[in-house]
Amino acid sequence: MTRYQMWIAGKWVDAGSGKTFPVYNPANGEEIAQLPLGGKEDVDQAVAAARAAFPAWSQKPQAERSQIAMKIAALIRDNAKELGRIETIDHGTPTKAAPILAASTATRFEWAAYNARSLMGHTIPSNSSELVYLQREPVGVIAIVTPWNFPMGMIIGKLAPALTLGNTCIIKPPSIDSLSALKLAELLAQLELPPGVVNVITGPGAPVGGALSSHRGVDMVAFTGSSEVGKEIMVAASRSVKRLQLELGGKNPVIVLDDADVDTAANVMAVRQFSNSGQICSSPGRFYIHEKVYDQFLKKFAKAAMSVVVGDPADEKTEMGPVVSAEHRNSIEAYIKSAVEEGANVVLGGTRPSHPTLKDGYYVMPTIVTNITQNMKVAREEIFGPVACFMEKFNSDEKVIAMANDNIYGLAAYVWTKDTTRGMRFANRIQAGTVWLNNTYKQGPELPWGGFKESGVGIEGSLYGLLEYTNLKRVQVDLANPGK
Ligand code: NAP
Ligand code: MG
Repeated sequence: MTRYQMWIAGKWVDAGSGKTFPVYNPANGEEIAQLPLGGKEDVDQAVAAARAAFPAWSQKPQAERSQIAMKIAALIRDNAKELGRIETIDHGTPTKAAPILAASTATRFEWAAYNARSLMGHTIPSNSSELVYLQREPVGVIAIVTPWNFPMGMIIGKLAPALTLGNTCIIKPPSIDSLSALKLAELLAQLELPPGVVNVITGPGAPVGGALSSHRGVDMVAFTGSSEVGKEIMVAASRSVKRLQLELGGKNPVIVLDDADVDTAANVMAVRQFSNSGQICSSPGRFYIHEKVYDQFLKKFAKAAMSVVVGDPADEKTEMGPVVSAEHRNSIEAYIKSAVEEGANVVLGGTRPSHPTLKDGYYVMPTIVTNITQNMKVAREEIFGPVACFMEKFNSDEKVIAMANDNIYGLAAYVWTKDTTRGMRFANRIQAGTVWLNNTYKQGPELPWGGFKESGVGIEGSLYGLLEYTNLKRVQVDLANPGK
C-alpha cells in the first residue's frame, strides 16, 4: 500500500491533521493508496504559498513562461504511459485509451505556450493629446477544482492556460481519483518551478474545495463538476467577488431526423454513449428519434451496444471498464430503477456483468431504456453512466426543438440530417454551447467549450478560454500635459 503526500509550497507534506483516506481500484474494489485528508489549515498554507509566488511568476517574461509550458508538455508526453497506467488503476480508464488520452493533454500546454506569446492588446481611438491602451494581466491565485471523469485531462484544461499566463495555482483534484494529479506534481517538481507556483491538495470536496472557494486569498475558481456543486461555489465565492469559470453538467439531446444517415448516426452515437462508461459531460443524455427511422436506429444502436467489449480496464481488448465507484454504480442503478417505476422499458442491459472475474468491480452493462417521457427523472437529470435514454418518437421539427430545449442544462447537442440547411436551422435554435451536426465530434485546445443555462459560466479552450485567466486593464495616458 502506497501512502502519498501532497504538494504545497514546493514540499511533499502530510495533511495538517495527519489523517489519510483510502482510494480503491474500481475494477476490483481493492484499496490502492492512502492519501492525505487535507483541510482548512492546508488550504491556508497553499494559498499563502501561491500568493507569495505570484509577484515573481506573473512578472516573468511571457517567453520564459511559455518555454516552461513547453517543457511541461514534453514531460507529459514522456510519461504518458505511466500517467495512463495510473488512470487505469485509479479511474478504470481502459488501458488501450489511457496513455493516448494522457499524451493528448500535452497539446493544451503547447497551445497555451504559443498563443500566450501572441495575446495582443489594443489601442482605442482618441485624440492626439491622449493614448488609451488595453493590456491583459494574470488574475492572481487560481483554485482549480475538478471532477473524476477524466482526472488529469480536466486539470490540465485549466492549469495549462492559467499557469502559462502567469497565474499561480492550487489544484484540488477529485478525492476518488487524485493519483494522476500527484504524479503531475512529481513531474513539475523536476522542473524546479518556484515554490508555491503550483500546489496540489487532496481531500474532500466541501472542506477543501469549499475552503478554497471562500478564501479571500484566492482570486478565481476554475471549476468543472456538477451544477449542484457549481452553485455552492458561486455562493461561497460571492463573498469576495471572485472570478469564476464553471463547466457544469449536461443532459445532451441527440436528434436524429428522418433524412439522417441512420446507420452512421447509430454507430457514432453508441461510441459517444459508452466511451468512458458514459461518464462524459458531452455524452448523449436524451435520444429523440424521428418516427420514420426510430426502429432502424434503435436496432442498429442496440447492435453496436451489444458489441462493446466490457471488461477489466487493464486488458488490452477492453473498450468499456467499470464506473468510477460503488456509490456511483448505485446511483446509476437507482436511475434505471426509477425509469422502470415511471413506466419506461429497459430493452438492453440494466444489469451487472455475469463474468465471475468482474464480480468485485463497479460494472454496469451497456443499457438502453425506451419509452421515456419528458418529465421522467431520467429525462431531466444527468445519469453520467452507460445508459442510453430513448425518448418517445417524434414527428415534428418544431416540437422536437422545444423538447430538446426543455431542460435546465444547455451543454451540447447532436443533430443528424443529410440536409445541412435543415440541420443549421436546428443549430440556430438549440440552446447549447456546442452543436455537433452529423459526424463531427472533435475536441482540441483551439476549440471553445462552455455551457448555456445551468451548464456553466465561461469558456474553456480557444482564445476565449485563455482570456478567462486574465484581467483586462485600461491605461489612459495624458500626452498633452505629461507629469503635470
Ligand atoms: P462534483 O461532485 O461536482 O465534484 C467536482 C469537484 O468538486 C470534486 O473535486 C469535488 O471534490 C469538489 N467538490 C465537492 N463539493 C464541493 C464543495 N462544496 N465546494 C467545492 N468543491 C466541491 O462532480 P463529479 O461527480 O466529480 O463529476 C461529475 C460531474 O462533472 C457531472 O455533473 C459532469 O457533467 C460534470 N462535468 C462537466 C464537464 C464540462 O466540461 N461541462 C466536464 C466533465 C464533468 P470531491 O471529489 O472530494 O467530492
Ligand atoms: Mg479512483
